[in-house]
Amino acid sequence: MPHSWPIFGRRDRFEETCAWLKTHAGDPVWERYVGCLPKDSKWQDVLDAIVALGNNLDFNAVDTITGTPAWTRQQCDECGELVHAVIRLGEDPPDYDMSTINICIACLNKAVAQLEDHG
Ligand SMILES: [Zn+2]
Repeated sequence: MPHSWPIFGRRDRFEETCAWLKTHAGDPVWERYVGCLPKDSKWQDVLDAIVALGNNLDFNAVDTITGTPAWTRQQCDECGELVHAVIRLGEDPPDYDMSTINICIACLNKAVAQLEDHG
């Protein structure tokens, strides 16, 4: 068991999204993903607007530009909500990842309360 668990936040998700978009540009998956952008936006306009935010990225502004929280938020494996951060619990062996869960603070608090009730 690790001494601390990795936390994944908005910057992690945004960097992952950017890497993913780069990899999939031009293929059908990419087209589907771009489909989540506001109908009246052009992909290049969206990119330009994000770049214009500068190095000190405001992730709320990114959400506004893209029209979706999906680019900057982590998804909780327990409740499915898009949240600012999740913590990864469980074992993370190099060859498979079936024993980990990324969980939000709300679900973690509910789990703690349930454990405390149990005594
Ligand atoms: Zn949750």
